[in-house]
Amino acid sequence: MNEKLTCLICDSSDWHMYCKIDNGNHDVLICKQCSFCQLSPIPTKGELDLFYASKYRDQYSNQNTVDKNVISYEQLRADRILKVLRPYFSKDSRNILDIGCSSGTLLQNIATLCDDKPIIHGIEMNDNYRKHIIKEGIASEDNISNQDIGTYYLGKEGKFDFISIVHVLEHLQNPGDALYSIHNLLSDNGRLYIEVPNMKTPYAKLVGEYFILYHLYYFTGYTLEKLLNKYGFNIIKSQQIANTSVCFICEKGAITEIDKSESKQEFQKVLSRLTYYKVTFPIRKLRPHVIRTLDLLGVKELAKSLLKRDQ
Ligand SMILES: [Zn+2]
Repeated sequence: MNEKLTCLICDSSDWHMYCKIDNGNHDVLICKQCSFCQLSPIPTKGELDLFYASKYRDQYSNQNTVDKNVISYEQLRADRILKVLRPYFSKDSRNILDIGCSSGTLLQNIATLCDDKPIIHGIEMNDNYRKHIIKEGIASEDNISNQDIGTYYLGKEGKFDFISIVHVLEHLQNPGDALYSIHNLLSDNGRLYIEVPNMKTPYAKLVGEYFILYHLYYFTGYTLEKLLNKYGFNIIKSQQIANTSVCFICEKGAITEIDKSESKQEFQKVLSRLTYYKVTFPIRKLRPHVIRTLDLLGVKELAKSLLKRDQ
């Protein structure tokens, strides 16, 4: 275990090693002080650049080009996001940005919430997806970038009235640096929509499917909220979304530090939950009422007894 590694939220270096992945080359670590969870070591920027430029869409979503399937998948996602976002979105938003904008479908949908046609901006690493956005006239070539967010924000401070970042933060090398950049990009009254997979409600088997090389950080609603607070965001709205994810709508606010007595309890809760899913997968893919029935049949008790054995 890397003893020098400090937690992005609470600065502790006291880690629990939950499992190893990638043939034992990387550990999944959970901070014992606050439950923040990450991969260690984090792959280098060079390794990540190579991965995203070549293999990512092939391996992760099977889609290296934009087609009907991509659009319909992203439209469903956009419908879901707009449902949450609509009451909190400023209709007079002028410049809007989606970080990891994919086919641009979400941006097109967000634009429909504005009274006047906004100026659409996006950051997307995949060449084919950027070409699609330009070809379809969703945004101008000047406003679609493949820059790293830490470089992108320079010269654009306070420019954006709305920023979205959906299922991206968990892939970035340093989510703290990304939130710092986003805070700088956002106008004083601007709003941020952020969504990540929720470690407490994983969409797949934990080891090897959720804890996997291209997910570098593993958030819960609790840890993402604390990280957002640390980088000066106030939470306006948060909720579980699409069964497997958690989303926040934020505005700029005061920097708040974590309450360590509360966060230690959260570590125990997370550990219990992960042990529970180790036992119950793949039943979580079943409908909630079926899961509740299985809980009644004693699966929860089994998980509890295994947890005791682990400790
Ligand atoms: Zn921590």
